[in-house]
Amino acid sequence: MNVLVINAGSSSLKYQLMDPATGNVTAKGLCERIGLDGRLTHKVPATGKKVEKDIPMPTHKEAIEAVMSILVDPADGVIKSVDEIDAVGHRVLHGGDKFVESCIIDEACKQAIRDCIPLGPLHNPANLMGIEACEKAMPGKPQVAVFDTAFHMTMPPKAYRYAIPTKYYTEDHLRRYGFHGTSHRYVSLRAAELLGRDPAELKVVSCHLGNGSSLAAIDGGRCVDTSMGLTPLAGLPMGTRAGDMDVGVVEFIANKYDMTISEAVNLLNKESGMLGLSGVSSDFRDLEQAAEKENHRATVALKIFEYRVRKMIAEYAAAMGGVDVVVFTAGVGENAPETRAHILHGLEFMGITCDPEKNNCRGKEQIISRDGAPVIVMVVPTNEELMIAQDTMELVLDQE
Ligand code: ADP
Repeated sequence: MNVLVINAGSSSLKYQLMDPATGNVTAKGLCERIGLDGRLTHKVPATGKKVEKDIPMPTHKEAIEAVMSILVDPADGVIKSVDEIDAVGHRVLHGGDKFVESCIIDEACKQAIRDCIPLGPLHNPANLMGIEACEKAMPGKPQVAVFDTAFHMTMPPKAYRYAIPTKYYTEDHLRRYGFHGTSHRYVSLRAAELLGRDPAELKVVSCHLGNGSSLAAIDGGRCVDTSMGLTPLAGLPMGTRAGDMDVGVVEFIANKYDMTISEAVNLLNKESGMLGLSGVSSDFRDLEQAAEKENHRATVALKIFEYRVRKMIAEYAAAMGGVDVVVFTAGVGENAPETRAHILHGLEFMGITCDPEKNNCRGKEQIISRDGAPVIVMVVPTNEELMIAQDTMELVLDQE
């Protein structure tokens, strides 16, 4: 089966054409600068071919048309006709509390995604545009929505409720939702598979550490807690996001610097985190380089990040009454051995160890804890696209 996986952002759209049964990716690429001018980067992994083209993309519709046209292009494409695409899987940011799993896209599903726009004002409209553009380009083709929030819907109320007056929950649905669900689901399942264990018997702390970062506590295959909240601003400090802090800071900054609440929250989303702390960059590679050159602020930023991840691993172990496996994934989790080592250092008291030799790895599946240690610590590169493609295949086959 050929599944086209679409991840539409506000001004970009990533795609992969893959076989969910094997995970083999036949083509992948990125449309950027949608709404400005438009640029397509297309790659064919089997040949290593890379094509870059400037194509006008006033909206996501033209971006999808550009993807369709390059996929069937006689010189650069990988299929003869769009008919060879069996189904389309979409990453959708916010499913609110309506979606506990992926679903076939129909009018009701689209309306539900629309209803969640207040919860995901930047992403959900882009996701909808991606879906509607595919409907136009491939009428009648089955499409599936895979929600970033769905995996976290198994959290109990004690984990997802905010301690604010109940009416804001019952009337306005203000609660913790969590994000990166597809990644946490993939790496926790893959970790169990690699260990030859049943996910139902494992307590896993999954650490998705990238530009955006979140942790999830997964007990018996079900998410019981996660660090992002109503929006992705909560939890760990990230590339440019502040993460958890006293919300009184918002009022202070707004008053003192004559900002609106939106402007102050924008500062916490876009100018804070590693960027705000270090003054150097939001990118962890830049921070590591600056820290090596003894840039004090970069060192402090990294220390704060590592400290917060370390504390949260212990917190989630406490939430589950133990931990069997700690998994690291995403850009930083997969590729930054030193950061992993610093995070783990100090958790030995709870059986969490780091073997320096095994930890000296990047971007591959690897156990990094010491032999025989009570808790297995491992690196599992994430693959959200594969999870989306597999969900799409299962739902489409079920429907047939
Ligand atoms: P996104 O949230 O945008 O998907 P990624 O998961 O791709 O982000 O993670 C991006 C982050 O991973 C960046 O801060 C980048 O510096 C970091 N990263 C990637 N490779 C390395 C590396 N070799 N060492 C340290 N950090 C890395």
